[in-house]
Amino acid sequence: MLETERYECPYCGEPAEAVLDLSGGDQSYIEDCPVCCRPILFHLQTDGHEWMLDVQTENE
Ligand SMILES: [Zn+2]
Repeated sequence: MLETERYECPYCGEPAEAVLDLSGGDQSYIEDCPVCCRPILFHLQTDGHEWMLDVQTENE
């Protein structure tokens, strides 16, 4: 099940949209910001229905 979640880049503050795969359970992964191309660390917690997304800079 795929969901989209809006977030703001922790580096440049620009809004963007992440596609979340809720079927994968809790996950952490890195994706480059579409605006400033710096690596954003995503922490996704999900039980397959509800989810919580955290975005951080790579160094945090
Ligand atoms: Zn950015």
